[in-house]
Amino acid sequence: MDDTEFRRLGHALVDWVADYRQRMASLPVMSPVKPGELRARFPATPPVQGGGLPGALSMLDEAVLPGITHWNHPAFFAYFPSNTSLPSVLADLVASGLGAQGMSWQTSPAATELEEVVMDWLRQMVGLSGDWTGVIHDTASTATLCALLCARERATGFSQTRGGLQEGGSPLVVYASDQAHSSIPKATLLAGFGREHLRLLETDGAHALRVDALEAAVAEDLAAGRRPCAIVAAVGTTATTAVDPVKPLAALAARHGLWLHVDAAMAGSAMILPECRWMWEGVEGADSIVLNPHKWLGVGFDFSAYFVRDPQHLIRVMGTNPSYLRTAQDAEVNNFRDWGIPLGRRFRALKLWFLLLDEGVEGLQERLRRDLALAQWLKGKVEAVREWELLAPVPLQTLCLRHVPAGLAEDEAALAAHNLEIARRLNTEGSAYLTPAVLKGRQMLRVSIGAEATRRENVEALWERLQALAREA
Ligand code: PLP
Repeated sequence: MDDTEFRRLGHALVDWVADYRQRMASLPVMSPVKPGELRARFPATPPVQGGGLPGALSMLDEAVLPGITHWNHPAFFAYFPSNTSLPSVLADLVASGLGAQGMSWQTSPAATELEEVVMDWLRQMVGLSGDWTGVIHDTASTATLCALLCARERATGFSQTRGGLQEGGSPLVVYASDQAHSSIPKATLLAGFGREHLRLLETDGAHALRVDALEAAVAEDLAAGRRPCAIVAAVGTTATTAVDPVKPLAALAARHGLWLHVDAAMAGSAMILPECRWMWEGVEGADSIVLNPHKWLGVGFDFSAYFVRDPQHLIRVMGTNPSYLRTAQDAEVNNFRDWGIPLGRRFRALKLWFLLLDEGVEGLQERLRRDLALAQWLKGKVEAVREWELLAPVPLQTLCLRHVPAGLAEDEAALAAHNLEIARRLNTEGSAYLTPAVLKGRQMLRVSIGAEATRRENVEALWERLQALAREA
């Protein structure tokens, strides 16, 4: 492709994205295609001759768009929001256009230094002290794996430099709640602790980790000769956005020398609101924190913020130093390849930079406050109708609700089928998209507000539609 063609097609594609965003609200939120339907639209063998790229535009409309579930749609209420703001779309274009690799400072100093700048801005935005240093990871899953690897190495005096997991010794134990995201068990297994040494502990009525249950589990493990190693506290669990009590957990971690990792993947964005910071009171006592600006905040996927108190420890666990990666500046700079798992690193800092230039902290705060208010509005509506119930408190922007028709209240299986049918109909008709999920054995409809485009009328329409479907289902 020459420059002229790049400009022509590039401008056309920017227009295409802008048109898509404009008409997205008229499309079904969840993709209606059947498995295999789209694959059949593409040739089974690769193009042998080039020259076909201009045809991509029409194929995007015909064969790709129908297979897209629209995460930026105003009626997207599923999972957690994953906003890709337009400034971060442009930043991705710049990052790809520059084609920079930020594995070492020298391989693109701007990538490293802008990352340092925006991560320090983010630290200030969420109210963390200057004792924290941040680095961008692809996902919270990766950051949590790094945290548990760091915990393991601190507890074993760097066994990785000796016999590693084969070294023997009494087993190390990881603690989290029974509401912990699946990335926590996954990281525990990948870091070699073993399923037998993961305690997913009981939660209270608000679905938060019970400190007394944790204390009892730690005591039991100590008595049995096992070594308590790490606690993962959730600030905003996936099912209900429950908030584990970080302050007493930090005190307990300090008492027993445990690593405390705070998984604030979702709720971390809300920490830009001073009125929400009670949710992680005591966080300064943690060893590591992850939050996902690629969820609610608006930084396009992927951008996960990993903050650590002791970067030297992270570097010692993650660092490699082959001759071909050494540079003359190594003693003076950060080489972010040593702060995580991958060697190669995209220039992700541009995405947060562009978003902040465009919206400013105040713009982001205003949008998050809007979503919190919308959630409270819907909560009020649900509470006011007899046949609907909330299964969890609403500290943030996610509601766990279900329809309980008279006569079905005692029949859990029938209630589950009824609510699943409401979700199936809603998602299939495409007017909105939510996630059905099970909370402690009870089927619920999980409504997560927070798409950038969502307005009050979208939440009102969802509530009207849910009630109508509940009558019909
Ligand atoms: N932690 C929590 C609480 C989550 O809700 C999620 C995803 O929704 C994750 C971790 C994993 O996030 P990621 O997709 O960035 O790995």
